[in-house]
Amino acid sequence: MLIHEHSAFSYYVDGLMTGSQNKAVNGQYLPAAHFQFKTMLFFAKLKPARNQLLFFMPELPEVRYFKKYIDATSLHKPIQRTRVHNPEVLRDLSSQKLQSCLKGVAFESTYAHGKYLFLQAGKSCQLVLHFGMTGRPVYYKTEDHTPDYPRAIMDFENGAHLAFDCMRMLGNISLTTDREHFLKDKKLGPDALRDLSDPETFLRLFEDKRGMIKTTLMDQHFIAGIGNVCSDEILFQSMMHPKKNIPTLGENELRTLHENVALVLETYVEAVPEYETIPDSFLFNYRSEGKECPRCGTAVEKIPVGSRSAYYCPDCQSR
Ligand SMILES: [Zn+2]
Repeated sequence: MLIHEHSAFSYYVDGLMTGSQNKAVNGQYLPAAHFQFKTMLFFAKLKPARNQLLFFMPELPEVRYFKKYIDATSLHKPIQRTRVHNPEVLRDLSSQKLQSCLKGVAFESTYAHGKYLFLQAGKSCQLVLHFGMTGRPVYYKTEDHTPDYPRAIMDFENGAHLAFDCMRMLGNISLTTDREHFLKDKKLGPDALRDLSDPETFLRLFEDKRGMIKTTLMDQHFIAGIGNVCSDEILFQSMMHPKKNIPTLGENELRTLHENVALVLETYVEAVPEYETIPDSFLFNYRSEGKECPRCGTAVEKIPVGSRSAYYCPDCQSR
């Protein structure tokens, strides 16, 4: 099965109906503020045969959206039971342990760090979700609206469900009683949006740092939350070549980079999942070989960087 990262997963939108505070897409709920008819039209243009609403591979902006989604659908609802369909998505955790920790408690709050989402369950336990390439939370009310790849499902006492839907099973579920300890244990870097607002903190992070800039931005141990799409955009906005060597960057270039980390993440967080609202001046809309750079008209190129591919403008982002 070959899956392009831009079409990692989708909602089918042929059964739109309205709930009291949320809108349901074929019985799966989206917070009303984050779903508009024009989104369907936009993706209908891309995929006319199937009329899908798409998410990209989850990076910080998608996980922030999942946080809003769970906040809007799944808080303060006691959990009756948890069904684990694929124990292989559990990390250092048995199905029985997960079930006993969640039984009878409700999710009280959520916290996102990079690509991880923490759900406070009752007083002492936090469910930790990592969405891999194709993961997403899906809230639904009736079994016939169960998503296609539910690896674990929490059944609420009110009859609704929250599924961890993950086609490729590269996402995972774990538990912690101490979020800070979990982040330390995973050796995760600071959250790219919340923890790096101070430019001096950002500059200090790059002191004595070696390596290529794109690879480094995507290193979750260095900064948490930036993936392939966001790193391409940050470098495009900074007019910086993806293979630029960090020791060759001057302070002004690093300050520009810092401003664009915030600009890009804030813009994407605001947009997701209405990707069509990302400004036309962003690479996002031209992230395909041969498309014309929105700044200078040069054909966008794709090059391997580390184990990933970068899209960039060879003219605006020269080495
Ligand atoms: Zn250009």
